[in-house]
Amino acid sequence: MELLTLEDVTKRYAPAQPPAVDGLTLTVAQGEILALLGPSGCGKTTTLRLIAGFEAPDSGRVVMRGETMAGPGSWIPPERRGIGIVFQDYALFPHLTVAENVGFGLQHLGRSGRPPRARQILELVGLETFASRYPHELSGGQQQRVALARALAPAPALILLDEPFSNLDADLRAQMREEVERILRNTGTTGIFVTHDQEEAFTLADRVGVLNEGRLEQLDAPETIYHHPATLFVAEFVGAADFLPGLVTPYGIVTELGVFADTEARRLGKKVKVMLRPDDVTFVPSSVGDGTIVRRDFRGSENLYCIRLPSGQRVHSSQASATLYPNGTRVRAEAHVIHVVTFPA
Ligand code: ADP
Ligand code: MG
Repeated sequence: MELLTLEDVTKRYAPAQPPAVDGLTLTVAQGEILALLGPSGCGKTTTLRLIAGFEAPDSGRVVMRGETMAGPGSWIPPERRGIGIVFQDYALFPHLTVAENVGFGLQHLGRSGRPPRARQILELVGLETFASRYPHELSGGQQQRVALARALAPAPALILLDEPFSNLDADLRAQMREEVERILRNTGTTGIFVTHDQEEAFTLADRVGVLNEGRLEQLDAPETIYHHPATLFVAEFVGAADFLPGLVTPYGIVTELGVFADTEARRLGKKVKVMLRPDDVTFVPSSVGDGTIVRRDFRGSENLYCIRLPSGQRVHSSQASATLYPNGTRVRAEAHVIHVVTFPA
């Protein structure tokens, strides 16, 4: 069932500027977790602000459960949209305790109804023993949990999270990611979070929307985004990719790393670029190989090798962490691509 729909939403901050959000159309299902992924300045925060009602679209409509929140002649203010928000800097009230912060959006429950609900939510996020502390007495991860608890307390239909993990250390980030997902799933809350971190989007979200200059380039499952990027921008922004020049022939697409099966009907002689992910490329050391290892990046769980081909073209190959070859090693590189993805040259 659809919870939220954006229909051709456009927002421009100033007439002379290009739109921050440009003709955005998407639908979020009840219970879904959606990530909006894109580089800084691509319109992620503006999109959340349009959904929340902190900004009004210049054109297009924001619809929740069939009711127009914003659109020509319609406006529902933020406090009546039933949306919870976790800001990038958490925005906790410094002079209120944890319990008071969480109870802030629960005025409708009255003096006696607020504390039990606040307690219940603090238990959910594992902070029941911190109820009387102030925000400055908490770690970053704990502050984030309070912000999440405050947003969840009124049981919103939808929760928006703006770069929720960007202020956390790497190990805490992974832990909070899991925790936020568990809490959203357990409460059946629909979530939209924005991030510029591809790994974060992939691990947490059911679907990922990739934004570029205010436009949605692709909205798909993480695996589809990675293996079947719809545009060159998505291919380059999401994960590492090399693009190998290829020529369409009757036998397939001929490249420096062999011939790839062509799944599309194309004009013979057409020049294309074949996308290679580092996990598509393997190599074996060989004194007669025509590739040369020019760089190795140790990533912990893998080694990322850069191989120079005779034409000067470079391709990357991800190998097991313990496989070590020095720079200058001659290799025979091979590409094993299951789904051939090409772009116009
Ligand atoms: P992101 O969150 O993806 O980094 P934003 O939505 O914050 O991107 O910004 C999108 C674009 O709109 C940027 O070019 C930014 O400079 C511009 N912008 C954002 N907020 C304002 C504002 N209040 N006034 C004018 N321009 C803005
Ligand atoms: Mg932002």
